This record gives sequence, C-alpha cells and structure tokens, in this order.
Amino acid sequence: MKRILLAMVFVLCVVFGITPPTQAGMISLEQEIEMGRETAHALEAQYGLYQDDAMQARVNRIGQRLAAVCGRDEIEYSFKVLNHNEVNALACPGGIIYVFKGLIDYMPSDTELAGVLGHEVGHVAKKHTVHSIEKQMWTTLALIVATGGRGGMGLIGAAQQALFAGYSRTDERGADKEGFYNTVKAGFNPYAMLITANKLEDLAAEGGGASYGLFSSHPEPEERAKRIKKYLKEYDIHPDVVLNENGVATVKEGDWTFNISQSIGSTKAEYRAYMLAGSLWVARQRGAINPDYFVVYDNGNYAHIYYDDIQLLTVYNQDAAGISPNAGAYAAACTKMLREWASVANYNDKLKKDKAFAEEQKRLAEEQKKLEKEQAKKAKEEAKRLEKERKAKEKAEKKAREKAEKEAKKAA
Ligand SMILES: [Zn+2]
Repeated sequence: MKRILLAMVFVLCVVFGITPPTQAGMISLEQEIEMGRETAHALEAQYGLYQDDAMQARVNRIGQRLAAVCGRDEIEYSFKVLNHNEVNALACPGGIIYVFKGLIDYMPSDTELAGVLGHEVGHVAKKHTVHSIEKQMWTTLALIVATGGRGGMGLIGAAQQALFAGYSRTDERGADKEGFYNTVKAGFNPYAMLITANKLEDLAAEGGGASYGLFSSHPEPEERAKRIKKYLKEYDIHPDVVLNENGVATVKEGDWTFNISQSIGSTKAEYRAYMLAGSLWVARQRGAINPDYFVVYDNGNYAHIYYDDIQLLTVYNQDAAGISPNAGAYAAACTKMLREWASVANYNDKLKKDKAFAEEQKRLAEEQKKLEKEQAKKAKEEAKRLEKERKAKEKAEKKAREKAEKEAKKAA
C-alpha cells in the first residue's frame, strides 16, 4: 500500500514538476528487514558460508555482545562468515552482518573482530543504508515505477545498490564512533577500533584496500586514527603503550615494563602492545587483579596468554628466540612478568581508590561545614527576627497601655 502511495507521489511530482518532500521514515521496519533478508540471500548464494561451526559461533558470539549494547533492539542481529578471501565486512539493513573469511585471517583476534563488528553494528543501529535510500527517493521511486512496484524488487534493488556503492564519509565516521563506544560498553579492548583502523590503513598502503562496510568512502587514515585517539582519551587507560624508534613497543605502568619487538604477520609490535595494554585495562575494570588468573594455553609453535576469559596476548616461537626455548616457555615467563604487573596495578588502583575516597570525604566534610554555616546564619536571622518582633510587640503593648491610661485619666 505504502509502495503504491509512494509511486503516486512520484507520478504527481513528475506531472507537476515539483521536488518530492524529504523522505525520512518512508521505509518501514518490515521493508528494511525484507531488504536485508533478500540482500543476505543473494550474498550467501554468491559466496557461500564458511564451513566451520566453531568459527561461525565465535563471530556470532562477539557480534551479539556488541548488538546488545548498540541501542537498537527492535531487530534481531545475526553474524556470519562468508567463504571468500577478501578482507571485508558488510552490514545488510535489518541486522544481518557478514565478515569475509579473508578478514578473519587478517584480523584473527577477538579484539580486532570486535572492532570490525562494532563498526558494522553502528551502520545498522544508525540505519545508514535505509537513510541513504530514503535520501535518494527520486531514483528509488523511479526504480519502483520501472519495475511496476512488483514484489518489492525496487526497494531491494535499491538496497543492494546503496550497499555496494558504499557509505558517505559522515556515515563512516558515525559508524566508527558507534563502533568505539559499542566495543567499550560490551567490555572489549578499547583499542579495538584503533587497531582495526590502523590495519586497514596498512592494507590500503599495500594496495589491498577493503571496501563496502569497512572503508568504502575515500580513506582518511590519519584523520580516522586521530578521531579514535580522541575517544580513547576519555578513558584513563593503563598500562600505557610507548612506541620506540626502533619499532619496539613498550607496555608500561610506573617502573614495570613489557617489551614487544616482533611483528607477527600483519600484526605490528605496536598493535600487539595495544592488545595487551587494552586487555589488561579491561581486566582491572573487574576489580583487583588476581595473579592466579593468568593462564597459558600452549599450542606448540604459539601460546595464548589469558587472564580469566580475557585474551591478553599470543606469543610465538619468534618472540621466544634468544630468550626462551619455545613459545610455551616464553609465555610462562610472560605470565610471571604479568603477575608482577598485578601487584603494581593493584597498588596503583588502591592508591587511586584511596585518593578518590579521601577526596569524597573532603567533599562531604566541606558540604557539611557549608550546611552548618547556612544553618547558623538562618538561626541568627531567626533570632534577629524574633527580637524585632518582640520589640515591636513591646512597643505596641506600651502604646496600648499609655492609651488606656490616657483614656482612664480622661474618664476620671
Ligand atoms: Zn563502514
């Protein structure tokens, strides 16, 4: 029905040579979901899903955590992996989100995937594709009229066209911002978006360049990283990451330092340091660090280091070279250092907490003093008022007495 009305508006506008009014809100939720479903169907037919249940489940699990905090809960989100080696991701209207297998190879950690999926969820939550179609309602309506408005083909065609044409720069910035806050709110590493943006920049520099959902409008890598760093400043993230001229990245808190010198594949030492520092920050948000919660999962050539369920760092044989016999032994040495960090972190957090407590006590004391002062002032004013009242009463009584005496005299 709405479609017919739209077509009529279009025809009338053409007949009378007027521009149709702004079309925001013209696409209903049902239409958005239908557009998304059809687009998803076409994508899955073209690429096929990646046949790895554990991988599909992992991507969906990360995505659902982000969807839960994105602020748009009227739709159901799903996250799937397409079997294609392109480094890319794509958000259909209505909440079906895809990452390509190539992206997971390029950004293997939970942190990086959270950065990518947070950005894509941002596009859906802010309805970027829907709004972009609505803005181009002239063309959309022409399509609908051209297809005779049959079976919603016009809108779906427009959705796919808009999706592959990419987002505006404003929408990309919006999705970065949404993505950043989604990742932090969902409890992921706050550096997720920064690492993702940097790695995409590296890829573009190598001539790879992702498109569609991730980086569709002309990349502005420096501006993009600067913006994300601005968001990061809101959070007091410790340990810090210091980048040295020799390419070594140092994770640092007070006198405690942890150096990362090796790049692993496309993951520079710098990004590995962000992963470690941001994950440690996430860990301490849960309360005092328990040194027993550092665990190593040794896989032979590499070993994962976790704090409870938080992935901190993966170390490889090349990290161990010249230091430990292998990745597993090196990971064990790392956890020893991380336990030392735990006491530094707990001490600093306690100081901070104590300082905050002392400040709060001081503030309360000052407030109490102010209140007492105000009460004393009020009491003084009240006493003054009563005294004035008493005097006035006395005066009136005296006057009355004198008058009575006068009248008594007169009568006598
Ligand atoms: Zn995007």
